[in-house]
Amino acid sequence: MPLVSDNFHQDKLKKYNINIKTKYIVDNKILERNTDINKINDDIKKGIRCQKEYFIKDKLVHTENIFDTRIEYTFISKSLENKDYQCPNCGMTSKLKDFLDGCPYCKTYYNIDYIEKDLGSKYHYDLILQNTTYRIVTAFIDLLISLLLAFFFIKFTSRTFNNYDITKVFIYGIVLALILYYFFYVIDGYIVLGPIKKYKDRENQKQIAFWERTKIDKKSFFNNLNYEIRKKYYSQENIIDYDIIDYLNLEEYTKDNHLFVRVKASVRIVYYNNGKIVSKLVEDNYLLKRINEKTLKLNSEVNIIKCHNCGASIDATKGKCDYCHSEIKYLQEWIMVED
Ligand SMILES: [Zn+2]
Ligand SMILES: [Zn+2]
Repeated sequence: MPLVSDNFHQDKLKKYNINIKTKYIVDNKILERNTDINKINDDIKKGIRCQKEYFIKDKLVHTENIFDTRIEYTFISKSLENKDYQCPNCGMTSKLKDFLDGCPYCKTYYNIDYIEKDLGSKYHYDLILQNTTYRIVTAFIDLLISLLLAFFFIKFTSRTFNNYDITKVFIYGIVLALILYYFFYVIDGYIVLGPIKKYKDRENQKQIAFWERTKIDKKSFFNNLNYEIRKKYYSQENIIDYDIIDYLNLEEYTKDNHLFVRVKASVRIVYYNNGKIVSKLVEDNYLLKRINEKTLKLNSEVNIIKCHNCGASIDATKGKCDYCHSEIKYLQEWIMVED
């Protein structure tokens, strides 16, 4: 068993022999983490993702490069994993990372998590346009109008209109399009980008107001949300990874004394289909419910949790005791529920 937060993901990747290398920008340095714990795993503090590489049996097969620079990640585990540790149950001593799957001798579960983590919180609201089609659309409009202008110019200045003139229309049109491209680029900027910018500004204001109004702790909310998203996606057969591209909307309401938050996000889902890795950008909705009862508090280091019914040690990610099947308390303050 890997660290508690990575549990579902690592189980899935192991099944297909896939590992993912993620590059992070941290203070102008490029650091990396690997889903294979035997490869490079730098500690990341407030990092921005910039590239993901997907390997099947150590062969690079797929790359993703588009990430939202407003979303930050923190994963600190190094000093934890290299720590010496003695099993309090049987007395065995080793490095803590050898205990990730539980004690090799007495099989006690340890429930180890990052010393500090941030699975993807959105902290910034500056405007970023991920409009890759914009330049293509501009070039197309530019070319079309230039061809029309060239056509009318030749049509009304020459007495005849033959094949030779049609060729001229194309040549004039393309030359004119090249000259006018920058002009169109700026004009389109006003027409297309103006309304988008206004819309995005409004959405940003709404999200800022949401955090001020609800007083919800942002980091633990986003950690809980992403833990639940991982559980949701990785329980589906062919999903091997995901990235939140942007949190689009957050809305709260109260029902039966519980606070609910509906989250709308733009997300890239990565699938493993017939030996190939493919990704798809979708919009998804998640409904989170705040647990009013006390939740199981996981410390940042080792957590040996005993079943309240039979006393066996428990793997907290399973939700149930292996032996007597008693339900255990929720790990998190926020859990995902059906809409
Ligand atoms: Zn032991
Ligand atoms: Zn039990």
